[in-house]
Amino acid sequence: MNPAFIILALLFFTSVVMMIAMGVAWVHFGRKRHVLTWTASYAVSAIQWVLNAAGLALHSGILMALAAMTIIFSSVLVLVGVRQRAGRTAGLAWLGPVSALAGLVASYAALSENRPLLGIFGPGYVGVLIAISALELTRVDRRLTPPERMFVAILSLLALFQIGLVVNSARDLFMAGDAGLQAYRAMLGLGLPSIYVASCVAGVMVVAGDLAEQLREQLDRDPLTNVLNRRGLESAARRAIANAHRHKRPLTMVICDIDDFKSLNDGHGHIAGDAALRGFAQLLHDGVRRGDVVGRLGGDEFGILLVDTPVEAAIEVMERIRRSVAEADLRITLPRALRASFGLSELLPEDSHMDDLVHRADKALYEAKNAGRDRVIPWRGAA
Ligand code: GH3
Ligand code: MG
Repeated sequence: MNPAFIILALLFFTSVVMMIAMGVAWVHFGRKRHVLTWTASYAVSAIQWVLNAAGLALHSGILMALAAMTIIFSSVLVLVGVRQRAGRTAGLAWLGPVSALAGLVASYAALSENRPLLGIFGPGYVGVLIAISALELTRVDRRLTPPERMFVAILSLLALFQIGLVVNSARDLFMAGDAGLQAYRAMLGLGLPSIYVASCVAGVMVVAGDLAEQLREQLDRDPLTNVLNRRGLESAARRAIANAHRHKRPLTMVICDIDDFKSLNDGHGHIAGDAALRGFAQLLHDGVRRGDVVGRLGGDEFGILLVDTPVEAAIEVMERIRRSVAEADLRITLPRALRASFGLSELLPEDSHMDDLVHRADKALYEAKNAGRDRVIPWRGAA
């Protein structure tokens, strides 16, 4: 049996396994659009290996032309998925027409049995698409995760591999003989299966990594209000405290608690109480800056970290929020406006843990409650 068929069969089964794996990931892991796009990419890719084998067996230019078009289509889908995953537009306005044109040129080369042109144009365009996919993956304003780095590395290798194919195809244009074609075939046979399988594994790792990240994120979040929970707040506080000490910047912690929440719960039921908690958390979230942190410590008690903010400025921020709470329309009918009390404490040089701040802010909150509620009180030391 021609070894090319064994390789094509291996690539076909790899694509089918990947299509199933991505399809299962799509169904079970939150129906993410990019995962569906990647599933489609592997489905197209599986068809492409069949067309390739059939074209080779039947010496059919039409089948080879179709194979050339499908491999371009499959690579376009990889790139579209990468863009969707990053929350960008699919980019089909330029990608669609350019790829259609590339598909036509590759088909023409296949139909006219122009081997060098097909060998230059097909892998050349696919290589460009894969290189753009790798670049798009790195266009984020954070450190890449290990699976992302692996995916970028393997996609780059795959793009280089395509360039290698282009170079070998071009050799025959300028030199006598078919040394380029031989090298092209050797490269395909030896390199493609391993690099293709590696890129598939890396793709699955990226999807699995995203899922792990999503679970980690959920572990730190309060499901009712969608702000951080105590665990999330504590880890954010660890970073904020270390940063504040390192850069000698102020940091203020606020503990706030809804006033007479028990009577709201008792009078209007838990559903209304939950709605009030959600609305309150939203007001806190909307009332602070982007880098600040809001979390639910438990019950009707929330903690806020105002970074780069001394206590005097924090008082102003919390006064504004306190007024917004009283004026808010929380979409629940209450006999009176919702109110809350706030205790504040600025980071001291000897503080090392969130509890140091919570301890003092709690005292201030206690004072606010005792003084009649609905107010903002900073911790004032032992006095
Ligand atoms: P104060 O002004 O002193 O804070 O009075 P309060 O009635 O608000 O007293 P407290 O803060 O101790 O009350 C907390 C109440 O919050 C007790 C509990 O019934 C209610 N609660 C705690 N968790 C939830 C929740 O997830 N949903 C709802 N609806 N209520 C909750
Ligand atoms: Mg309360």
